[in-house]
Amino acid sequence: MPSRAAALVLLALAACGVAPAGGGEADSQTVEPLLTVPERTGYRRTSTAAEVHDFLVRLDAFGDPRFFLTAFGESSDGRPLDLVVVADPPVRRAAEAHRGTRPVVLVMANIHGGEVEGKEAVQELLRAVVTDEADPWPVGDAVVLFVPVYNPAGNDALGPKNRPLQHGPSLAGRRVNARGLDLNRDWMKLEAPETRSLVGLLQEWDPHVVLDLHTTNGSAHGYELTYAGVLHPGAHPELRDLLDHDWLPALRRRMLERHGLHVFDYGNFLSPEGEFEDDPDLLGGWRTFDHRPRFGNNYVGLRNRIAILSEAYAYLAFPERIAATRAFVTEVLRLAAERGSDVPAACRRWDAETERWGGAGELVQPLSAELVERGREPVRIRGFRTETDPATGETWRIASGPVTEVELPVQVGFRAVEEALAPPTYWLAPELAAVVAPVLAGHGVAFRWLDAPQTVEAVTFRVVETHREPLPFQGHFERSATFDLGLREVTLPAGTLELSLAQPLARLAFQLVDPRAEDGLRHWNWYDRWLMAGPDAELPLYAAPLPEH
Ligand SMILES: [Zn+2]
Repeated sequence: MPSRAAALVLLALAACGVAPAGGGEADSQTVEPLLTVPERTGYRRTSTAAEVHDFLVRLDAFGDPRFFLTAFGESSDGRPLDLVVVADPPVRRAAEAHRGTRPVVLVMANIHGGEVEGKEAVQELLRAVVTDEADPWPVGDAVVLFVPVYNPAGNDALGPKNRPLQHGPSLAGRRVNARGLDLNRDWMKLEAPETRSLVGLLQEWDPHVVLDLHTTNGSAHGYELTYAGVLHPGAHPELRDLLDHDWLPALRRRMLERHGLHVFDYGNFLSPEGEFEDDPDLLGGWRTFDHRPRFGNNYVGLRNRIAILSEAYAYLAFPERIAATRAFVTEVLRLAAERGSDVPAACRRWDAETERWGGAGELVQPLSAELVERGREPVRIRGFRTETDPATGETWRIASGPVTEVELPVQVGFRAVEEALAPPTYWLAPELAAVVAPVLAGHGVAFRWLDAPQTVEAVTFRVVETHREPLPFQGHFERSATFDLGLREVTLPAGTLELSLAQPLARLAFQLVDPRAEDGLRHWNWYDRWLMAGPDAELPLYAAPLPEH
């Protein structure tokens, strides 16, 4: 903590008449300097949500017009979710952020409660803004939205066993929210109040770039941090190309050149742990996770926005993880600022093309996907030793020993296996529309209600086979199904929901509503009532035939 910052906070507190945190005596001798919880506990502790909020309030007391503390929704345990807007010139409302051509970036931390360093890195960055450690604010005229603690209930459910093998702190939060939901599996179904709040923020503030901060819990590798872009093959091809061939390689270079940190595409080795020491070929390859839009990076991509997942390396010490995450956030912000008006311009173009193709029946969407190999590339390997945390008796893995590089097949992207042209319009009969409309509205997908009956030529979906997973996942018994598509005249009653894909969110709308889509409403049981009628049942959902081209 630079002494200048400490001095400044004392001045700010005195000027605002704010009592120092944690003590009654306003004697300047006892005023605590503005340190994060890890900084003032020798990195033995991570912040609770209340401690983060208190820290933000103290930063707010500086009265820096570039720093604006507000809230954007509510957590599953009824707490307001903090949002900090940092911008120069200052921004207070969403409409102001989109005046002109400024890039808008959202940095969200702590979606998984025990993955703790994102919120600490964000606090350090915000302190640097108001204490002029970063003067001028180093990201030009970009508008940056910070959500330091997206999952306060998970964050505060501190325990010694929530993050097995993670190299400290001794107590960390748990992954899920107060209702046991993993917020990074909830993006399509919107069942958690946190997700509904955040998707509301995406609609209101419309960030062009979303950066989601996590910590790994897998393979022992030789990187300080790993990342992923948008893995869903249904995102705009130009968006995926921009990330894979421009932004992510640039970030990788800059992290090494400017911070001496090695970063790479997120992944895990294909072999069991430990075997590589005898024979690196046993590693088999380096593979990323999942393309489905239940994950935030893929979901945001389907909204035509740039998304980056950041995963600090769990077996590095807590302060090293904070530093790596802070450096990565800084570089993403700098890159967004540097690209300036190109960022909103690209988003507008992707929106306009998606709307045009969606309305014309020309939008190609995947129904399933498979991993593709980028090639054989050098991957960094590093071993670890284990230690017992004296405070809890839990085992820590500590990255140690030399780094070696092994050439491995690298699978960090997906391509479509089956594809379909998205129908330009869907119609949902009133009984189905009643359950689907709230989810569509939650996502900001536009639709309208038919106020009079209408007869149309429509594609029908008749069930061939359907399967329900026997074990629950996230409170659901996941549902698959195959359909026979027919074509007949259908009379739609008044109260039918009409969903036109002539809209910027056409990719998301298709992946939500089309019964053939992999991770949409059919998967999460919205269509079960009709699917359970068994083979030959017809869904009360119809699609406009594709126009002849
Ligand atoms: Zn995570």
